[in-house]
Amino acid sequence: MGSVQDTKACGKCSGMMTTDVEYRTREYFNMCKRCGFVEEAVLQKDIHGDPVRGEHGGFLLERKESGGYGVSYLQFRGGVGRTDSFIYPMENGGVKVFKDLLQNEGVLREESYLITFDQGKATVQYGNPPMEHLLDYEEVDARQKEGIG
Ligand SMILES: [Zn+2]
Repeated sequence: MGSVQDTKACGKCSGMMTTDVEYRTREYFNMCKRCGFVEEAVLQKDIHGDPVRGEHGGFLLERKESGGYGVSYLQFRGGVGRTDSFIYPMENGGVKVFKDLLQNEGVLREESYLITFDQGKATVQYGNPPMEHLLDYEEVDARQKEGIG
């Protein structure tokens, strides 16, 4: 197992998307840090659960897209974090569920955050997400080249 991580512009909101490509199978998992849009490719499996190969011997992939309505991040004690993307527009109920999760033992509230994304606009509902998660990718890229952040 080995994978290559990188970043690119999100196809949905132009925010920063992190990419993770498994170089042997070419499976990938990309997620936007701002709107939560997910692009994913997983191996096609046959009924025995074995990967299916194409006529040239390469693995066949099944591509999926989902999310795009925001991102939540929960930071736990001990350095473990969990990112979730929303596949439906977040209503107030969803914000409340997140705030309830924050009350759990072991959650570091000051390092957790919630961004909702609806009709082209990102809104920070809770916490302080890293600045580069809210900017357009072009701007993130320019700042990185200048060595800021
Ligand atoms: Zn996005």
